This record gives sequence, C-alpha cells and structure tokens, in this order.
Amino acid sequence: RAYNFNAGPAALPLEVLQQAQEQFVDYHGAGMSIMEMSHRSAAYEQVNNETQALLREMYGISDNYHVLFLQGGASTQFAMFPMNLLAPDRVGAYVMTGSWADKALKEGKLIGETAIAASSEADEYRRIPALSDIVIPERAAYVHITSNETIEGTQFQAFPDTKDVPLIADMSSDILSRPVDINKFGMIYAGAQKNLGPSGVTVVIIRKDLAESSPKTLPTMLRYDTHAKNNSLYNTPPSFSVFMVNLVLKWIQSKGGVEQVAELNRAKTNLIYNAIDQSGGFYKGFAHTDSRSMMNVTFRIHSEELEKQFVKESEQQGFVGLKGHRSVGGLRASTYNAVTHESCQALASFMADFQKRNG
Ligand code: PLP
Repeated sequence: RAYNFNAGPAALPLEVLQQAQEQFVDYHGAGMSIMEMSHRSAAYEQVNNETQALLREMYGISDNYHVLFLQGGASTQFAMFPMNLLAPDRVGAYVMTGSWADKALKEGKLIGETAIAASSEADEYRRIPALSDIVIPERAAYVHITSNETIEGTQFQAFPDTKDVPLIADMSSDILSRPVDINKFGMIYAGAQKNLGPSGVTVVIIRKDLAESSPKTLPTMLRYDTHAKNNSLYNTPPSFSVFMVNLVLKWIQSKGGVEQVAELNRAKTNLIYNAIDQSGGFYKGFAHTDSRSMMNVTFRIHSEELEKQFVKESEQQGFVGLKGHRSVGGLRASTYNAVTHESCQALASFMADFQKRNG
C-alpha cells in the first residue's frame, strides 16, 4: 500500500476496503451488490438506520438531533444552512480561519446579511482566533466555524460558547477524529471523503428545532425538514457511500471508539510535528503551535526548489499527496483516521533523511 497523505479524497482503512471487496459483488448472499439494490429494500433500510445509530452511539448524539445523509458535499451546505436558517432580519456570523471559512462566508453572502465574528486573516490564517475575541452580533442567526482548516492546517482546540445562538461547524476534515460534545452545536456537517468514507455522502447533524424552521418557499430538496421527515430517503441516496461509512464507523468502533482514535491520531501526527520541530529550522511549520491541526500538517522548506525535490523524491519512495495546496504552497501531510502510525513513522524518517542530504 502507498503511504497515502492525500487531503481528500483520502486514505480508507485497508480492513474496510477488504470488507467492501468481499461484499462488492454479492451482498450477504443476496446475489447482487448493495449498490444494485432498491433504496426502499429492507437490506438498504437496515444499512441506513444502522449507520445513523452507529454515529449516534459513537458521538453520544441525543434524540434532540437529526442525523442526515445528504449529497452535494460540504460545498452545498455552505449555501443550504443559510437558506434554511438565515431569516431576512437576521445576521449570519462567521469566524474567519482560512480558505474553507472564506468559501462558507461567500455563499452566506449570496443568501443574506453576514458579519465577521473574528478573523485571523491578518496572520495569514496561521492560527485560530482566541475564543475570547469572537464577537457575536445582535440578531445573529448562527455563528459558523470551520473546526479544522484543511489547507492552512489549523484546528480549533476548544469550541466557543455561543449561548443561545446556534453554533454551526464545518467538520469536513476532522469529524470523528476526536471526541466532541455535540450538545454545544446547532448543526455539524461534513463531506465524508476524509474521515468517514468515500465521497458522495455529506453527513449533517442538526438540532431538531433548527431543522423545522426553514422558510416555506425553499425548494423541497434544499430543506432539512424534507430529509429529516423521510429518514434521508426522500430521493435516491448515495447508497454505496453510506454503506462504506457504515463499515468505517464499525472500524472506529473496533479501535475502541473516538477517544481511542484521537489518541492514536495524536501519537502518529506528533511524529511529523516532532520532525519539524527537531529540524533546527530546516522545516518550518505553517500553523502557530497552539493552533496546529492533528489532521493536516502544513510546513515549508526555505527554498521552493527543495520543496519540489522533496515531493519528487517522496513520490519515488512510495509517498502520495505531500504537495501543499496550490493556494498556500509548501508541503502538507494529511493524517486522517485511516493513515497508519507506520506511514507517519516512514514520513518522519524520510524527512530526517532528506534534511541530512540537503540541510
Ligand atoms: N470544508 C472543508 C474544511 C474541506 O476540507 C472541504 C474539502 O476539502 C470542503 C469543505 C468541501 O467539501 P466538498 O468537496 O465535500 O464540497
């Protein structure tokens, strides 16, 4: 297997791929694949319900929330939550932490009035703003955060208390990577293709009262209450992707749950941060140390030539996806749940060796 550090779609656990392969042609003796079955069949209904139940159990999600499986990626949610929740006399507040927060804000602006609750743009988005700097405007319909900025490699270490104003989080790149108190949030959404499964399904966890407050004029498919009332089966769901999420959730369970996975993530990702910190300045982390992401490690070398060489040589040695995002450049190692400790160890060794040869 390649040492896969892709930012997304990203590595899946080998065991999950093997289980999927076993069921691929003949799903539990049905003589067909799960993706060939009706989404109204008992077999798929079981997958749908069990996947929701697993997510509820793993995150301790109460009956106060709906768990929905939608399509259109997190990018559709950027527009869908303001369409549902941003009434004309209200303000959508955004904490600006980087490229994805910016995309969410841009969509919000298309729907209604927005405000910036805090921003680290002046620091090139190298850190998460202090929670005490977050100013919630009057008439706020919600406060939106990006819990992990995939491109800059920063992550909220704790979440703001927004009192009566619903906190909405884009958790696309760190969902299920660590324990989260869901009750702090009005809504959480995530494209599946980093920590949850393949692309094609978007998970939305939304407080029931919020899901029921959509304007009457909103098209059926863009309303949360449509999907809530129909148990995510209003139209044809991305059934194979949901099936894969089901297997990934069982894999997390087999590891001992989210807390255990968080510990594994810390141990493996710190191998790479240590390689940066112990390089005497040869590698420089992009994010401030107190905002470092456990999912995306962003770093630079003093010359772009060397960065190119780093990527080239890493590819020759079986590493994939270490080039930074085109908007910030440099290097990035994405260490989602499925990336193994062994891969991170191999990368840390490669980094030390590359430095020895080029330092
Ligand atoms: N939000 C974050 C934090 C992301 O990392 C990404 C994708 O990389 C997105 C949103 C966009 O997700 P999608 O491609 O599912 O629309």
